[in-house]
Amino acid sequence: MILTNIIALKDNYIWILYDKNNSCIIVDPGVSNIVIKEIIKKKWNPKAILLTHNHIDHTGGVENILKKYPKIIVFGPEETKNSHVHQIIKGGDKIRLLENNIDIIFTPGHTLGHVAYYLKPYLFCGDTLFSAGCGKVFENNYAKMYNSIQLIKLFPNNTVLCCSHEYTLSNLIFSMHFLPKDKNIKDYYKKIHKKIFLKKNIFPFLLNKEKKINIFLRTNEFFLKKSMGFKKDKDSFEVFCYLRKIKDIFGAKRD
Ligand SMILES: [Zn+2]
Repeated sequence: MILTNIIALKDNYIWILYDKNNSCIIVDPGVSNIVIKEIIKKKWNPKAILLTHNHIDHTGGVENILKKYPKIIVFGPEETKNSHVHQIIKGGDKIRLLENNIDIIFTPGHTLGHVAYYLKPYLFCGDTLFSAGCGKVFENNYAKMYNSIQLIKLFPNNTVLCCSHEYTLSNLIFSMHFLPKDKNIKDYYKKIHKKIFLKKNIFPFLLNKEKKINIFLRTNEFFLKKSMGFKKDKDSFEVFCYLRKIKDIFGAKRD
């Protein structure tokens, strides 16, 4: 399976997985026009759409893509049932597409019904985790979001995180506010800044790397707690809540 992405709505990643026959799966198409254009250009044969949650910037393109390709099967959690979903899925389910098994992982927090799709080594994690950051907690359940992020942290180190938004630079600036001397974060910022300036795709995001540069995966670390004025035994979950709430004010991104 070959993975690629389409950038839409300025900072949305729409992920496409296609096989040697050019059959493809589309993840979270927030828009239709650019996706249809790319399908025609690449001669893909779309078989399925996977939805992670019920936000319009993830589901908005489904209706028109379906009009053009009515044989597509749309999968999504219960909360997406009004987005032309044919098959409701839930955490623990397995689906088989393009001769591959896909595990459905329940990752509530950004929304209460959010799911991720795991087709080894790719984890389509929607708005749960971003490179160097994480999604907003829209329904105020920080414990669910924290647990979902901890669950993702347990995936194999070579997991490729396919997140839905490109907020990497602003996330790194936020991180450097707390850890200005952190070499991993500083080096990554320089690298990403250069790539974005050259209009290069900054994907892939490997979990192993994220564990070093994403402070939302490092909430148990002493230096992070210290920089926030906390003692070393401060609970990791409380550090997460504090960081996420400050982030909402610091660099307000849509998701
Ligand atoms: Zn969202």
